[in-house]
Amino acid sequence: MSEPTSFRQAVTDKFSQAGRRERDVVALGIAAAAIILFVGTGGTVVPQLVSAWRGLAEQPDAMLSSALLLNIALILLGWNRYKSMNAELGDRRRSEEEARRLAQIDPLTGCYNRRSIAPAMAELLMAAESEGRALAIILVDLDNFKQVNDVNGHNTGDAVLTETSERMGDILPADALLARLGGDEFAAAVVYDPVMPGKVEHLASLLIERVAQPITVDDAVIEITMSVGIASSINLVNPVDADVSTRLIHKADIAMYQAKKQGKNRFFWFEPAMEQELRFRNELESGIRKGIAKGEFVPFYEQQIDLETGELVGFEMLARWLSPELGVVGPDIFIPIAEEIGVVAEMSENLMRQAFEDAKRWNPKLTMSVNISPVQMRDPWFAQKLLKLLLQHNFPPSRLEIEITESALHDNVGLVRSMITSLRNQGVRVSLDDFGTGYASLSQLRSLPFDRLKIDRSFIRELNGGGAAGPQLVDAIISMGNGLKMPITAEGIENEAVLEMLRKMGQLKGQGYHYGRPEPADEVLTRLHNSGLLSAVEAETADQPPQAIIGNRAI
Ligand code: C2E
Ligand code: CA
Ligand code: CA
Repeated sequence: MSEPTSFRQAVTDKFSQAGRRERDVVALGIAAAAIILFVGTGGTVVPQLVSAWRGLAEQPDAMLSSALLLNIALILLGWNRYKSMNAELGDRRRSEEEARRLAQIDPLTGCYNRRSIAPAMAELLMAAESEGRALAIILVDLDNFKQVNDVNGHNTGDAVLTETSERMGDILPADALLARLGGDEFAAAVVYDPVMPGKVEHLASLLIERVAQPITVDDAVIEITMSVGIASSINLVNPVDADVSTRLIHKADIAMYQAKKQGKNRFFWFEPAMEQELRFRNELESGIRKGIAKGEFVPFYEQQIDLETGELVGFEMLARWLSPELGVVGPDIFIPIAEEIGVVAEMSENLMRQAFEDAKRWNPKLTMSVNISPVQMRDPWFAQKLLKLLLQHNFPPSRLEIEITESALHDNVGLVRSMITSLRNQGVRVSLDDFGTGYASLSQLRSLPFDRLKIDRSFIRELNGGGAAGPQLVDAIISMGNGLKMPITAEGIENEAVLEMLRKMGQLKGQGYHYGRPEPADEVLTRLHNSGLLSAVEAETADQPPQAIIGNRAI
């Protein structure tokens, strides 16, 4: 590894210089006071003394002579005192200085830290502005750094951070600042000409390229990439103010988040629209949290049909958010966020509780399918929790089918397999959803005991266009399902023509807008009432279809 960066030196020097300057001022003050006093009295008495010695004048003024002697004694005494005090103070100052220095620099990399970069950045910006130049903040966040720590240990993680800061230091111009903001996040402040943003982009590319080169620590070779967000002082409304570093770093952070979202290992300039998007996202997050507590997430139901007989065989539960601010929101918006903020399991449990109560009012031959997020599948207790829920609601496991997507298989196939097995042992059926969109291999399909395959609606849509590959692909998937002895559901049937084609291809179940949109619990009850498919108890008690309770209120 190379020598410590110039940034480490710069920060250290700056703080020790400040201490030395303070001490010099005290010493200078004492020396000056002594000299002034000495000159004041000495200036009168010494000439008198000299004249007296030469016999040219009378004895000098006794008072003034005594004052001079006293003054000399005072200087000597003061000097002595100053020396001992200075030694004592020096020790204390040195330890204070060290503590302050440590608080101002990042001890691992020797860079500035989040606090100390602020004044340095403000100073740099002021200088840049005075020359008609601007300041760019290049914010760097290492991708998947946690994995490096987890797999190789914290010492290796530390070495990677140090090496990264050194590589960045090598590339940055001499007058740039570099800070470690915490964890695996760095910020560089670079002065540039605002009409030539390309220079900053070039720098960002170089940084990404250099850091991506393998790092050898002991015997391990670590490869790490980084996501970069760039913000410029020209983005600030009032660039010269004390809080400039916080605001610039915040903007660069938003751009960095965009870089992460777009696949990492790249840079993005900050744009105001990103800030709005982030604000909206934050509002969604807090809305989702509150919405769960208030019961705003409710189940809607989509019919599942036996294509051969045209008979209704069950429903797929699809979540909807009845948001007071946004109206009815679909799961494609809120499920990924709920997964990310760790509330999907709680949301799903609430939805299932409502769905079990709803489905108990239907004819018991009707099944219910529920989508389960890959995040829920990572919980080793998921199967137990689900069975407990079924018991609590007295809902027969044989009526429940859970749908998992291929992406759940990437995480931990062993865990997924044992989970599927224990669910099936309890009588719950498990289907593989959105089949064909992920990368489930044939061997995985063979080894995982799914009860059913659901062909993704994108393949069924192909049947519509009359494209040559469409029918053949669907046909192939159906043959494969037959070979594996897995029944198949086709999703996304939108019209009679597609339905006819599918009917010819085999014995399938199907669902889609052709049979109607997903509907809330009360509409399902009306539908079932009209077709004589309510539960016996429900049919007895209801001449008219009863009101369903959705969330906390009747709709
Ligand atoms: P999915 O499991 O593939 O669900 C079917 C989606 O296709 C539903 O969208 C449904 O409204 C839509 N759909 C049904 N028929 C047609 C059709 O004929 N044409 C077209 N174009 N679309 C059709 P929705 O309700 O927006 O759900 C989207 C996805 O959200 C679902 O895809 C599922 O993966 C997920 N999801 C829904 N509810 C839950 C839930 O409670 N938990 C979890 N983890 N995911 C859920
Ligand atoms: Ca599904
Ligand atoms: Ca699906």
